[in-house]
Amino acid sequence: MLRFFGGLIGCLGLGLSMAAAQTVRAPVSPMVPSEVAHLDTASSSTNAAFSRWVDAFKARATREGISQTVLDRAFRGVSVNTDVIAKDRNQSEFTKQIWDYLDSAASPTRVSNGQAALRKHKRIFDGIERVYGVDRHIVAAVWGLESAYGATRGDIPVIEALATLAFDGRRGRFFEGQLMAALQILQSGDTTARKMKGSWAGAMGHTQFIPTSFLAFAVDGDGDGKRDIWSDDPTDALASTAAYLARHGWNKGQPWGVEVRLPSSFDFSQARRDNMKPPADWARLGVVGIDGKPVANYGRASILLPAGAQGAAFMIFDNFAVIERYNKADAYVIGVGHLADRLRGGPEIQASWPRGYEPISFSEKKKMQRILKRKGFLDDKVDGIIGPNTINAIRDFQRSIGVTPDGYPSKTLLEQLS
Ligand code: CA
Repeated sequence: MLRFFGGLIGCLGLGLSMAAAQTVRAPVSPMVPSEVAHLDTASSSTNAAFSRWVDAFKARATREGISQTVLDRAFRGVSVNTDVIAKDRNQSEFTKQIWDYLDSAASPTRVSNGQAALRKHKRIFDGIERVYGVDRHIVAAVWGLESAYGATRGDIPVIEALATLAFDGRRGRFFEGQLMAALQILQSGDTTARKMKGSWAGAMGHTQFIPTSFLAFAVDGDGDGKRDIWSDDPTDALASTAAYLARHGWNKGQPWGVEVRLPSSFDFSQARRDNMKPPADWARLGVVGIDGKPVANYGRASILLPAGAQGAAFMIFDNFAVIERYNKADAYVIGVGHLADRLRGGPEIQASWPRGYEPISFSEKKKMQRILKRKGFLDDKVDGIIGPNTINAIRDFQRSIGVTPDGYPSKTLLEQLS
C-alpha cells in the first residue's frame, strides 16, 4: 500500500509474484553503474560501510526511544540485500499501458479468486462493512491487486530491506523514516522481526502497508490485542484497509466511478478533475451511463478519459480520490474500482481501448513540448511532464488542425506536430 512511486504501477501482485521475485534475480538495468552489475554479494568494503551506518542509525533509534532489546533482535543477521538494491534501481521497467494493466487487474482468474475469497471470508467482510462502512468489494479489490488475495505478500525481511534502501541513499530519508516506524511496530509487540516480512520496498502483509501507514491506520480486526497484518488470517489486514479508506473519507453507497458515453459533440476541455458537476448536469450535456440513461445522483463528479478520446470514459466521484490515497496512478484506482465492480457481478468495461497506440517516451514528450512552444501553443517549461498547461496546449494545437482536441500525447500527435 501506499507506495510512494506514484505513476508506476503493477509492481506488486500483478504478474510479478513476490515469491517468484525472490528466487529470480531481477535483470540489471543498463543504467546501473558497472560496479553493481555483479553485486551478488556486497563487497567487504560495502559491508563495513553498512555496518557503520547501522551503528549510527541504532544510536538515533535509541534517542527516539527504541529499546536495546528491540534493536538487537531487529538487526540480528541483517546485511546489505543486493536483490533489494537491484529492484529499487529497476522499478521503472514495470510501467504498462492502462488497458494491459486493467486486463491483468480484472483478469478472469483474479475475478473468480476474489469471488471465492469473498465467500470464504464472508463473516470478516460482514464485520468490516458494518464497522467501517466501506464496500466489501472495494476492500477485496485492494487485496486482490496488492497481494492476489494474500498469495503474494512478500517474503523479504522488512528491516533488512529498509535498512538496505536507507543505506543505499537514493531515497534515504524516506526509507530511514520507514525503518524507524518498523522498529516502533516491533516495539509495540504487534509482530516479531522474524515474522515482519514484505516486499523489497517494505510494503507489508495482505494489503501492503508501509510501516508509517501501519502506525497511523492499522487496526486489530479480530480483537486478539495485536494488529497482525502478516499472518495467513487476513482479518486484521482487511479491517486495516477498510479503516484506512474510512479515515480518508469513504462515502458509503457512492461508487468510485461509472463508465459513461460521451456525445459526439462533447467538448473535451470539460474532462478535467477540477470540473465537477452533478450527474444531472452531465446528462444535460449528453453524458450518460452505458445504458443510455442519466447517471444516478451520487454527488458531484468529473469526467476522466484515461486514454484520451479513443478509450473508455468514466464519471468519477469523491470515492475515486479516496482510493487514490492508496496509490495515485489513475490506472491503479480504475483497476481497484473496476475489479470491485466485477467482483460484485458487474460487466466488463464496454468501450474499446486504442490498443494499437504507441506510447511516447520521456524524450519524445520533451520534443513534443519544444514543438508546441515553437508553434506558439505552449508558454511553459519543457520538462517532459504532461501537466494541465501541456494538455491545454495540445488541445489548442489539435483544434487548429481540426482533429478531436482530447489533449492526449500520442505518437499520432507527435507525427501531426512534425
Ligand atoms: Ca488481531
